[in-house]
Amino acid sequence: MKKELILDCGHKESVHSNITRGYGTDKDGNKHCYECCLEMDKKEMRKTGKCFAYHSKENGKDVISSWPGLTISDKVEILNYSTDNFGGERTYLRFVFDNEIWSGFSMGVGMYMRAKRTKIKELYA
Ligand SMILES: [Zn+2]
Repeated sequence: MKKELILDCGHKESVHSNITRGYGTDKDGNKHCYECCLEMDKKEMRKTGKCFAYHSKENGKDVISSWPGLTISDKVEILNYSTDNFGGERTYLRFVFDNEIWSGFSMGVGMYMRAKRTKIKELYA
């Protein structure tokens, strides 16, 4: 019988493909399962008001997800598209997390994005 690795967070490795691992490693070298990585990301977001995430699409809907693809927010509003000085496309969007509105720029679907917490209470006045 194959032994399962227990990660530093106390859980087993998350389901993963042959070419990936079912965990993330933090800056101290501790290994955490996907769910714990997501929790750490959320904790960091609440603490810092900033986030590094991915903009992706699920069933044609825009979602903001964390590194292993777990959803941070599926309430996403695309505000506009623009091009940066280098001709790259930028998508200005807002999303709801913890009942607060965050805004940021994504470099397109499947790309990395940065966002920060806003003081906006409603997406539309
Ligand atoms: Zn865990």
